[in-house]
Amino acid sequence: MRIAVCGGPYANPYALHAFADDARRRGCERLFCLGDLGGFGAEMDPLWPILTSKSIECVAGNYDVALARGDEDCGCGYRDPKDNEYAQLIYDHTRAATSPQFAAWMGTLPTERRETIAGVDVHMVHGSTLALNDFWWESLPPDEHRQRVRASGADVVLCTHSGLPWQRTVDGTLVVNVGVIGKPANDGRREVRYAVLDLEAGRTEAELVPLAYDWRAQAASMRAVGLPECLVETVETGWWTTCLEILPPRERSRGRFHLYRSTLATGFRPADTGHRLQDESGEGWDKAAATPALQDATGRPVVPLFGSPYFPSRLWLYTNFHCNLACDYCAVASSPKADPRRLAEDQVRALVEEAVAADFCELYITGGEPFLHPHIVSLLDHASAQLPTVVLTNAMLLRGSRARGLAELAGRKLTVQTSLDGATAATHDLHRGAGSWQRTLDGIQHLIGLGLPPRVALTETPENAHEIPAVARLLGELGLPAENFAVRPLLRRGFAEHAGYGAEIGADSSIPELTVTADGLHWHPAGADKATSPDMHLSGPGTSLERGKQLVTEHFFAARLADGSLPRPVRCAV
Ligand code: SF4
Repeated sequence: MRIAVCGGPYANPYALHAFADDARRRGCERLFCLGDLGGFGAEMDPLWPILTSKSIECVAGNYDVALARGDEDCGCGYRDPKDNEYAQLIYDHTRAATSPQFAAWMGTLPTERRETIAGVDVHMVHGSTLALNDFWWESLPPDEHRQRVRASGADVVLCTHSGLPWQRTVDGTLVVNVGVIGKPANDGRREVRYAVLDLEAGRTEAELVPLAYDWRAQAASMRAVGLPECLVETVETGWWTTCLEILPPRERSRGRFHLYRSTLATGFRPADTGHRLQDESGEGWDKAAATPALQDATGRPVVPLFGSPYFPSRLWLYTNFHCNLACDYCAVASSPKADPRRLAEDQVRALVEEAVAADFCELYITGGEPFLHPHIVSLLDHASAQLPTVVLTNAMLLRGSRARGLAELAGRKLTVQTSLDGATAATHDLHRGAGSWQRTLDGIQHLIGLGLPPRVALTETPENAHEIPAVARLLGELGLPAENFAVRPLLRRGFAEHAGYGAEIGADSSIPELTVTADGLHWHPAGADKATSPDMHLSGPGTSLERGKQLVTEHFFAARLADGSLPRPVRCAV
């Protein structure tokens, strides 16, 4: 027997009509609805005649139980105050829009249905087999899926409530979350989803089918009663704009929006205990951090994680890992002996195009020593023609054709950045090798002469901390403006970890900055060496940047939800 099962009509009579017609057209002999008749949409009472005239058999959801009892809230089970604020606003509208007769009818509905249909034991619930308002997410751990299946023992378990459709077999039981027809599934599509099941003993199959309906009429009806524009936007775009905090990391990372704007403004601003960045107006960390999406004309209450202060829209590219130096604190364990792990020229070019398409706003090109890459000048030419680009170098190899090519890029949105770790050779050379201080100074002067005055970062160590003012004076004497100098922390990764130097940095305690190497995608440039920082490796070569953004978002929320800690920015760019 073929049956159709929908979840949450959410006061969307247009979708409910379409569901009944579509299901009958597909040959479904019985139609079921798993509850939450109200919530989100505007028109409650028009649902009732559709349910009865189309013979849709219902179980009650938490919304229906609450309306029938005259409860003060919907009992959806949200835990975040902002989620609850929207839930309450919608519930108050729904109560006012529901006639007492319809609410009383909801009170007659069972909260679950267990029936043998065509020889198949089918258990229909609203939330899960554990509770009416339990969120049965696809991403739950296997044990939690098993627990819910064991609580039933049926051949097929059908549920809704979470609003996101999925199906899987758990210990021989087919579990289908049928989704909801009241609003889209946070996937950028206006269609909603319901389930069609072909029930036959031992051969039951389910399909989650997309359902097109008159979303314009639904949006107009919501506007007509003054429901918030952000809710209408979900109907019109397919992306959720409220009630995001309840979403587990994996489900949350798939949507377009991830954080309430108000969360950014209060308890979720990154702590900044590091050195003050001197380049306030430059293209460094502060630019991203100073661009929180707190002011927005749309009135939308949420923002994407990407582009917020918690996930700057800056892409790092490691062109190669070998280096002419072997600094004893190198976070990515570079040296003349390191495996080069070069990105090919066409790979870098393709990544630049992809970065533009994926809405990255700046590129940081680094290594190893990028000027050991045979095509570095043409790559910088290509990159800086499209996005503001910073190249990090020890400034010792900028001679001959490289220097001539670089000089031609002066005036582009290209910044050269180098490192000077002391006002004297003694402190700088201590970690970076004999003679390197003088060669770096020569490089800085050479860059100034080429028309590319560099930014200079000092990696702070116990030995050079007292020389910071002297380094600033020295650079001033060379003609560099003060804002071109910054201090950054020494990070305990790569060789530094081996030597026991520097501050800890991990994927659960730092702001992500998506990084591409020949080994794939990484959480942060300081953890870009897969061999010494496997914990910061996100995925293998060939992973798209859009997928990388999604992976970062999922990891971010997994780390945040695990212990509630807030990440810190770790400045290694400047
Ligand atoms: S810190 Fe920079 S210059 Fe030193 S070895 Fe590493 S990549 Fe080379």
